[in-house]
Amino acid sequence: MTSIEQLSSETIAAIENAIGPQEEFVLLHRPYLPPNAWQYMKECLDTGWVSSAGSFVARFEEELAKATGCARAVATVNGTAALEVCFRITGVSVGDEVICPSLSFVATANAISHCQAVPHFVDVSESCLSICPEALSSRLSKVAKSGADGTINRETGRRIAAVCLMHCFGHPGELDDIVEICEKYDIPFIEDAAESLGSYYKGKHTGRFGKVSAVSFNGNKIITTGGGGAVLTDDHELADRAKHLTTTAKVPHKWEFRHDNIAWNFRMPNLNAALGVAQLEVLPELLNAKRELARLYLAQFSQVDGVKMLAEPADCRSNHWLNSLLLDVENESARDSLLGSLNESGYQCRPVWLPMHQLEIYEDCPRGSMEQTESISRRALNIPSSADLAPNWSASLSQ
Ligand SMILES: *Cc1c(COP(=O)(O)O)cnc(C)c1O
Repeated sequence: MTSIEQLSSETIAAIENAIGPQEEFVLLHRPYLPPNAWQYMKECLDTGWVSSAGSFVARFEEELAKATGCARAVATVNGTAALEVCFRITGVSVGDEVICPSLSFVATANAISHCQAVPHFVDVSESCLSICPEALSSRLSKVAKSGADGTINRETGRRIAAVCLMHCFGHPGELDDIVEICEKYDIPFIEDAAESLGSYYKGKHTGRFGKVSAVSFNGNKIITTGGGGAVLTDDHELADRAKHLTTTAKVPHKWEFRHDNIAWNFRMPNLNAALGVAQLEVLPELLNAKRELARLYLAQFSQVDGVKMLAEPADCRSNHWLNSLLLDVENESARDSLLGSLNESGYQCRPVWLPMHQLEIYEDCPRGSMEQTESISRRALNIPSSADLAPNWSASLSQ
């Protein structure tokens, strides 16, 4: 056998051993919709409260704040919208730059662009796939200078209005170091926590380290509201502003239509919030199952040469949203054929995103070294990660 064939067969065997025999094609990530989802959706239909007013929205926001320990949560139509709101309320505006990873879902940069600001890419760490503190620090020491209204990129003349870290596949980023660098340069810190609901850094929920953060409840995320997102913050003023701007900036009045900002209709509909309330009720069970699945995968892949599994960072609790494999550098040319065999064998597996600086739409953005980003993007792939693949899943629900 060639080494590529061996790597394929060992990877397939490792997955099989971890999740047991499966009858159907195993999706990368499928949602679990608990029985209460039916009941709450029916309540919306029976009462006619299906749209942007209705009691489930407030209930979802309260439960979400409780689940994350945040003072406030503001539900939105999707995670990208939530992220755009985060940037807007922290002062990102026309002609600014926002530092973010190039290795992220395109929404991170799109939300920056929708504020008419420019993404500025920095490299990521191989250990957790999020912004590398050394890369951020060396980039800022090279380009940052102090200006009248904050930190300026001396090469472009634009203000660096924020740093946005993304917790990749649910593994918390290196928050202490990144926050310290942002404080040193006096740059507001924001978290794209779209993938990290249920992930903790040193005991504190991700999304609570930045001034504000965004989560997503898209269909493939750890919990889904069909489509949806939320702004999280401990700052009541910012939360009020997020609520105001996501609800057309209408000044409260019994009948008058007065709007004091050019704002959005980014409200989450009640139907979606009803799904969210039902799913938050089972979040602890989902997290346990995903932890168990990651443990089984880790045990299997520790015995496979040529590939390693991305592990939970020290002092962190990951939600294990997607389990990721990283091929050794010598094996990177085998990635696509490995993906081919995995998918043919009934396991939906996907590569990580193409880095954004390699997309035509973002190729001209300022950036630091992309060495780790490019290497990881050639070597990483995600394997089936649904909670119901954990062997004790059904039992955990009936308890
Ligand atoms: C999913 C995701 C988003 C956007 O969320 P949507 O709800 O799909 O708009 C943003 N950033 C990252 C990193 C994501 O994975």
